[in-house]
Amino acid sequence: MTKDEIIRKHKQYLFPSIANYYADPLVTDHASMQHLWDTEGNKYLDFFGGIVTISVGHANPRVTSKIKAQMDKIQHASTLFPNEALVALAEKLAQITPGKISQSFLTNSGTEANETAIQLARVHTGSYEVVALRHGYSGRSQLAQSLTGQNTWRKSLPFAQGVVHAMNPYCYRCPLGLSPTSCGVECARDVEAVIQTTTSGRIAAFIAEPIQGLGGFITPPKEYFKIVFNIIKDYGGLFISDEVQTGWGRTGKRWVGIEHWEVTPDIMTAAKGMANGMPIGATMTTPDIAASFKGLQISTFGGNPVTSVAAKATIDLIEEDKLMDNAAVVGANFRQGLEALKQKHDVIGDVRGMGLMQGVELVRDRISKEPAPNETTQVMEECRKGGLLIGKGGLYGNVIRMSPPLNISKTDVDEAIRVLDKSFAKVESSMTVSARS
Ligand code: PMP
Repeated sequence: MTKDEIIRKHKQYLFPSIANYYADPLVTDHASMQHLWDTEGNKYLDFFGGIVTISVGHANPRVTSKIKAQMDKIQHASTLFPNEALVALAEKLAQITPGKISQSFLTNSGTEANETAIQLARVHTGSYEVVALRHGYSGRSQLAQSLTGQNTWRKSLPFAQGVVHAMNPYCYRCPLGLSPTSCGVECARDVEAVIQTTTSGRIAAFIAEPIQGLGGFITPPKEYFKIVFNIIKDYGGLFISDEVQTGWGRTGKRWVGIEHWEVTPDIMTAAKGMANGMPIGATMTTPDIAASFKGLQISTFGGNPVTSVAAKATIDLIEEDKLMDNAAVVGANFRQGLEALKQKHDVIGDVRGMGLMQGVELVRDRISKEPAPNETTQVMEECRKGGLLIGKGGLYGNVIRMSPPLNISKTDVDEAIRVLDKSFAKVESSMTVSARS
């Protein structure tokens, strides 16, 4: 098929809600490690990694060779029959996850992982209500959309019952209008106020992302989750950490994002980068909580040998090559480069994130902080011209999200910064607003 045919058929045969990036959609052809090529032969440095999913590089032979070997051996027989690939993965997860978490339920997506987590918390506690955060994202099922705190992703009415939303720790746009240096993390108290005023007073769970992904890489103050954890416990709830974006070394130094905030969750969910692009979802918890699932439960494809092998190979590679350290070191280089761009380009209102999960929020001017979604789209287009793929997010569509493979080098970072610099300059030169600080 030609590029035009592919684009035409995408529009004709797929749901219109499956939107593409770029005015002229980029039709992918092949990819290798940190690079991706389109059907016209253009090469790109991929700093979005299939939406925070390519952890160790596209088509990394150390992962794909194991997938291919497993495909030839046995692809599927279901969890009715134990298999080595699945138990080897589950054992590895038990070894690297925090606290007493040592049992897993494998599915095929982050949505399913979160559905499973909420269901489990409800049967375990005997309570029903769940506290989620504004600006969060939990997936696309009815429950997951109801947990999500952005109207852009909540269009499938009617909503599931029993979900309430607390303020999120969005320091750049503090919901309380306070300053991060003197606020005393007052926003964490809203979790208690929400429980007291909008629930029965006994909750099943609190669910949050250690760094909000689609929300625009919103990174909380260090104390936030510790305060919230204690509140949740006072009201009988389980703490669910959604590690779909922050898991497996993405944030540097630690396996999962919540470890940075010194909280041990009761349940963790994961997907995306866990299997370097193979579809997987995981809900992980303690044996005590896992035992609450009574009756039969199955996910036909969940925990299939091929996906399990892919996840184990990805996690092993991250460990063997010390990619959590690389994410911290190269992530710091990247952050430094982005902070320098902020000094230079007024369109950048905020730089945030951790490790190799870095976001840049664009504003029309720094005083009003008016979101700049059009400029964000333009920066993406300019970066594409310069051979760099980046993502976007945020409730207002004005946050550039970058999450390259964890094994990139400083050379890749330098190249990304060079292209970003040029792109910001180009977009700023076309901005008409003069009221900038
Ligand atoms: N949680 C988070 C934090 C996510 O970012 C996503 C996906 N963007 C999901 C859950 C849902 O995952 P999936 O798309 O695999 O269902």
